[in-house]
Amino acid sequence: GVVTALLPRESVLSRPDISGQDKPLAANIDQLVIVLAPRPEPSGYLLDQYLVTAETIGVAALIAINKIDLLAPEQKANFIQQYQHYTTIGYTLVEVSAKREHGLDALIERLKHKTSILVGQSGVGKSSLINTMLSSLALDIGKLSEATGVGRHTTSATTCYHLPQGGDLIDSPGVRSFRLTQLTMHQLEHGFPEFRAFLGHCQFHNCSHAHEPGCAIRAATQAGQINPQRLENFLRLSKTISTSG
Ligand code: GDP
Ligand code: ZN
Repeated sequence: GVVTALLPRESVLSRPDISGQDKPLAANIDQLVIVLAPRPEPSGYLLDQYLVTAETIGVAALIAINKIDLLAPEQKANFIQQYQHYTTIGYTLVEVSAKREHGLDALIERLKHKTSILVGQSGVGKSSLINTMLSSLALDIGKLSEATGVGRHTTSATTCYHLPQGGDLIDSPGVRSFRLTQLTMHQLEHGFPEFRAFLGHCQFHNCSHAHEPGCAIRAATQAGQINPQRLENFLRLSKTISTSG
């Protein structure tokens, strides 16, 4: 089942409530499945926030590109190409179509023996993917008690789907409005795994990687070892934490 309160914080996916306090949404997760699609227009910034979250709470992340049926072969190659650099960092990309029931075996394979949660913008096809996987496999649907961490006035049922392969898929409506919780600079830096080899090599120990001379992160970006958009998203995220320390 889904326990929201008893587990170590590192394994808990949370979001701030109205008072700004982090409320747990789901725990005992080992994988975040980040779903994106050609439509709605993907946000690389949101994708990187999800990836930072996965790194911070210490769970694996999988990028599932859904609705590939919407793209002609050439468009498809271009679209996938935009995300290819994530595989260099170590993340897996799977191409799927909930509509055409394409690529689902590869996705199901990745869900095996894990407890995964689907996240992503509204409309990318999270429900469709779950429904398609359910209907094709006649999965055992275990309705869980109402999530306690979702918020006082919200009645969102968290559902756990047991995959015959041994994995669990958690569908939590609360996660759909999930936001990145307050991070430290250290957590943020380590939330970008490809930065790790360069951390500690900047000229200034408190380098913001934005403009300082002798910045190892910027040098690595110039050398093609860090994707410039990843650095851009890092800098954008670091602005959200610098004011509150
Ligand atoms: P959610 O908000 O992420 O749960 O997204 P939904 O599952 O509700 O899907 C949003 C819309 O996208 C619906 O109209 C679906 O029919 C459509 N959709 C979902 N998956 C696919 C797909 O693989 N291909 C196409 N063409 N449409 C899809
Ligand atoms: Zn630096």
